[in-house]
Amino acid sequence: MIWRTHMAGEPTKELVGTKLVLAGWVARRRDHGGLIFVDLRDRSGVTQLVINPELAPEAAELAHQIRNEFVLRAEGMLVARSPETVNPQMSTGAVELQVQSLEIVSRSTPLPFQLDEENVDETLRLRYRWLDLRREKLQRNITLRAQMVGIIRREMEAAGFLDIQTPILFKPTPEGARDFVVPARLQKGRFYALPQSPQILKQLTMVAGFDRYYQIAICFRDEDLRADRVQEITQLDVEMSFPDQEFLFATMEQMYARIWREALGREIETPFPRMTYAEADRRFGTDKPDTRFELELEDATELTRGSEFGVFKNAEAVRFLRVPQELSRGDLAKLEELAKEWGAKGLAYLVYDEEGEVRSPIAKFLSEEEFSLFRSDPGTTVLFAADAWPTTSRVLGALRTHLGRELGLIDEDAFTFLWVYDFPMFERDEDEGRWTAVHHPFTRPTVAWKERFHDDPEHALAHAYDLIVNGNELGGGSFRIHEPEIQAKVFELLGMSEQEQRSKFGFLLDALAMGAPPMGGIALGIDRMTMVLAGEPNLRDVIAFPKNQAGVDPMSGAPSEVTQEQLDELGIRVVEQPG
Ligand code: ASP
Repeated sequence: MIWRTHMAGEPTKELVGTKLVLAGWVARRRDHGGLIFVDLRDRSGVTQLVINPELAPEAAELAHQIRNEFVLRAEGMLVARSPETVNPQMSTGAVELQVQSLEIVSRSTPLPFQLDEENVDETLRLRYRWLDLRREKLQRNITLRAQMVGIIRREMEAAGFLDIQTPILFKPTPEGARDFVVPARLQKGRFYALPQSPQILKQLTMVAGFDRYYQIAICFRDEDLRADRVQEITQLDVEMSFPDQEFLFATMEQMYARIWREALGREIETPFPRMTYAEADRRFGTDKPDTRFELELEDATELTRGSEFGVFKNAEAVRFLRVPQELSRGDLAKLEELAKEWGAKGLAYLVYDEEGEVRSPIAKFLSEEEFSLFRSDPGTTVLFAADAWPTTSRVLGALRTHLGRELGLIDEDAFTFLWVYDFPMFERDEDEGRWTAVHHPFTRPTVAWKERFHDDPEHALAHAYDLIVNGNELGGGSFRIHEPEIQAKVFELLGMSEQEQRSKFGFLLDALAMGAPPMGGIALGIDRMTMVLAGEPNLRDVIAFPKNQAGVDPMSGAPSEVTQEQLDELGIRVVEQPG
């Protein structure tokens, strides 16, 4: 017995008159004056089965029991549909299988939701993920993801990178998140940490002489979840010795070009444009600018030093956006609310109406000189942020993105890739009042900052870069410190005592002291890449078995309790029972 001769998406006119066997799921059953029609679905598509009680009485008898999502095996003759029943939307729409024998292979209990139902509650979908995954959109997303990973592997291998697997049970690897820890039964009271990234390990493969490493790596970050965050991130992780930034960027660009070509049939332009962090911040108010639309931030700080308008005069920075639309009072009130959420104290504005007349509560305070800078075309609204520089960036950057979307300024069909580089090396953790690494502590300073980063950590630049597409960060990387003294100096600047350096990173410092080559690399998020590629706004819908926003898997119930014996074996006492 064979299960099937063809996939359900395959039958076309050329096969008419052949005997086929198909197997798959019932997408729909319709009874029509004695004839029974079944849409039989598998991964490749759908074929219509016709069961005629006169030709196949046994099959017709059985067909009455069929419900959605039963698994069937059907044998029959492929016939052409009568012209009026041809469905040009379906690849198999010109044919149907005239069933001769039918078998119900598996039955289904009543479904918790129909596969074609819209807006099904996400928890319910996750609870029955195996059903949810049968839907066309999820089949497409997961297939696209697999296709993309296939291309990535082929490209990386062609460029001479070796796939090297690194351990999941390891030691804390800092990427700025909390660690997941795993108790070690054989060493009671000790814990492994799941890697937040294979960063240190990939550097060690370079010290070990492997020259070019890659891995499709899972990274575990115990973060508070938001809509766009998961705790298990998959990334393409890359490292090379004697790094050549042009080669690295070109390899990634070629890989993306091939993914876009093969998966979407789209040509993307390479090389990708590049922009320093400082420029991105100045022009777009963010380190991940969406360059699908123009709208840039402008700076009025100089000019407003002597302003009559106290808010401008006293602010560290005064910057503005010229929005190409005459916004109403209602719009402005809503925008002010948003601006406040992003940290603004208020939202000053000038509205130039269609006649070019200005409408604004602050107009009376502004000088001719100020007006000459702000004056805009009729039908423009000028929105201001007057605050500390980073706040003006945050507020106007977010307003820009918001308005780009709201006002339809974005070319939704475009893909704009962008490298952002020369990031600051450190930032101040305001809560703890100490320096933290913007990328990670293994990132080297730029050549210009190599000798003096510790004298002026606030301004020191890192040899680090991010790759952005349409305002989404796909990932980032850096060149690394291969000199143990410099590494120790960075650790020291981050407030780590010598003892702490030894206990946390002694093995890395030792390795760097035994002939470490210069090295650099990158990591690119596979989940996010799939979202962009699939045009899928929901991060969880590009992951086969995601957890919900509380980090729970509604399907299996994980995380779950363990038995007292297991706890005893591990030497662990639970002090707070789950609520
Ligand atoms: N380890 C970094 C990350 O996971 C990427 C890199 O520097 O290669 O974000």
